[in-house]
Amino acid sequence: MTFRKLDDIGDVAGKVVLVRVDFNLPMQDGQVTEDSRVRAAAPTILELSAKGAKVLLLAHFGRPKGARDASQSLALVLPAITKVLGREVMFVPEIAGDIVKQAVGILGNGDIALLENTRFWPGEEKNNPALAKAIAANADIYVNDAFSAAHRAHASTEGLAHVLPAYAGRSMQAELEALEKALGQPVKPVAAVVGGAKVSSKLGVLTHLVTKVDHLIIGGGMANTFLAARGVDVGKSLCEHDLASTCEEILEAADKAGCTVHLPYEVVVSKTFEANPPSLRTCNVHEVAADEMILDAGPAAIEALSDALKTCRTLVWNGPMGAFEMAPFDAGTVALAKTAAALTKEGSLVSVAGGGDTVAALHHAGVAGDFSYISTAGGAFLEWMEGRELPGVKALEA
Ligand code: ADP
Ligand code: MG
Repeated sequence: MTFRKLDDIGDVAGKVVLVRVDFNLPMQDGQVTEDSRVRAAAPTILELSAKGAKVLLLAHFGRPKGARDASQSLALVLPAITKVLGREVMFVPEIAGDIVKQAVGILGNGDIALLENTRFWPGEEKNNPALAKAIAANADIYVNDAFSAAHRAHASTEGLAHVLPAYAGRSMQAELEALEKALGQPVKPVAAVVGGAKVSSKLGVLTHLVTKVDHLIIGGGMANTFLAARGVDVGKSLCEHDLASTCEEILEAADKAGCTVHLPYEVVVSKTFEANPPSLRTCNVHEVAADEMILDAGPAAIEALSDALKTCRTLVWNGPMGAFEMAPFDAGTVALAKTAAALTKEGSLVSVAGGGDTVAALHHAGVAGDFSYISTAGGAFLEWMEGRELPGVKALEA
């Protein structure tokens, strides 16, 4: 797909540019605990500012359900934003109307203002065209830099793109280019790793992936569900037994599409869900006892999966191979992640990963920086892996 980007925006000096960002930051005791989303948006904001635009930042925060709620005001994250940008940022407690108009009048070229939480207005989540028009009335250009909110058709993520000239910001652009490389026009063979715990909500992803990739590597609770569907007794493992027929359908579709599905044949099991349990052992998948649960793929299985990965040129990864938060059940995920990172460093693999726990696992493995691209978007990344069109992205199409 082609989309409009900042390179196409022309002269913005003196123009009012609305920039949709993701400032839905985690907070604890009134303090922002993690600011990577602000750092992701900073290049776009500072680039527009340097070009002389009056920058109005637009974002949602929490779930205030269409009404003002002081505990979910974006004013709370203003200090964190000021700190990352290294600039003074004016706070405006509205998103449309005269107060915003007055603020725009006060801003000089290159100045930055943060508007209030878009979700205080019910028209935001309803994608009300009147709200989009009212927001647009105080601006000249719309830039969307929030890929993580692009799976929602809201006034600030989609509606505005229809009433103002619309462009992708730098972080949106990087995300779209990385995703296009991984599944749009990937260099073959392509591998997908899908693991983790949210089995039922990720089966849609698998249905789409088997038509796109050459190797599908399944791990985590997802693998247990497939093993059970194939008649393996998985004991007390995290497993959704009622999904057996869906698993069969996916395996059949994979077969038809020429996609090789890899399941671990050796696993690490325990009788209890804890770190370094006394009952820890590694066994063949057919030897899991009724009172045991599978918590990771075994080392020999991971080696076989790594060998499959070595034949591939592109990798997309969502979901850890095991319960990586507890030693030693992180070993499988860490080993496979290290292989992917080494292949990427060598230049033989393009690797893209996304998902909250997946990204945490890659950081834990110490290889997040070695992947080609790490997506910070949770829901939007998964919808994209499902092959769905994201409304916020579609609206930016050139
Ligand atoms: P993501 O956030 O990357 O999309 P998920 O939320 O689907 O990933 O899954 C991550 C969780 O899956 C982790 O908390 C991990 O402990 C858990 N998990 C992975 N494998 C197993 C397993 N075999 N048994 C129980 N939990 C598992
Ligand atoms: Mg998760």
